[in-house]
Amino acid sequence: MIFCGMALAPGRKVRVPLPVPGAQPLETLCLCGAAPGRTLVVTAGVHGCEYVGVQALRRLAVELDPAELSGNVILLPLANPTGFYAGAKQVVPEDGVNLNRAFPGDPAGTLSARLAYALETALYQAADFLADLHSGDCNEALYPLVFFPTAGTEAVNRAALTAARALTVHYRVRSTAQNGLYSWAVQKNIPALLIERGGLGLWSETEVNACCEDVRALLRHLDILPGGNPFRDQVEIAEARYVESAADGLWHPAAGLNDSVKAGALLGRLEDLSGRCIQEVRAEFDGVVLYYTAGLGVAAGDPLIAYGHP
Ligand SMILES: [Zn+2]
Repeated sequence: MIFCGMALAPGRKVRVPLPVPGAQPLETLCLCGAAPGRTLVVTAGVHGCEYVGVQALRRLAVELDPAELSGNVILLPLANPTGFYAGAKQVVPEDGVNLNRAFPGDPAGTLSARLAYALETALYQAADFLADLHSGDCNEALYPLVFFPTAGTEAVNRAALTAARALTVHYRVRSTAQNGLYSWAVQKNIPALLIERGGLGLWSETEVNACCEDVRALLRHLDILPGGNPFRDQVEIAEARYVESAADGLWHPAAGLNDSVKAGALLGRLEDLSGRCIQEVRAEFDGVVLYYTAGLGVAAGDPLIAYGHP
């Protein structure tokens, strides 16, 4: 395998710096399988307060053995290191841009654009499949789910959907995103998924274990690890609503994670400081709550709650 200009011998585990124009390189760990096969790229830390995937990739870096792999694995645990170390919500602190809205990148742009350029240049070339690990943000509670793409060709979308079915998360959600690390990959003909687990700026052993199992499930799905996957009892969310705040205010969610809600049910209220109701959110259809903002203060345009139905 050749990655970032380095030739890697079969059976080796090597740290390879991924160059970023005008910034520190990103750290990757490449596992070059003893036998040939496909290459899975797994990224985390695009958003600075989403920790489960970062910990999972650090653990897999230790646990995965190249001698057992038929194919290659490239792990990138911190795609936005300054955001991670600063605990920055959503953005790259240097320019205030959400890296998952910065694709395609630009080598002459601000840091987000340069990171996007670096990631797509190095990773897309190497990947037969890409998975990007996220969580709910530091103020966001989330039920584990996978977003599968619709932005690619029929074959690429189908390859991603088939892989999504192998994961342990209960919900898979149809996504129309286009300018993120995974969604731009799909438009470059690389099947890709965005997996969400954990939230509220927390991580636990249970969540990290589950996240590691999802990556291992992908490795088995791609025949990089042997053994295949069992049938998963997974639900596809065909239609989802992502409700945003109409104004700056104080948000009071009225439904919990994975709650079944009926059409018309109250999902939450946004108040001003004096207690006047600014926005009342009610379910447009029967569905389940996928994630919601748990923090009290929200700005206009911030996410409040997401729900969907099969
Ligand atoms: Zn995220």
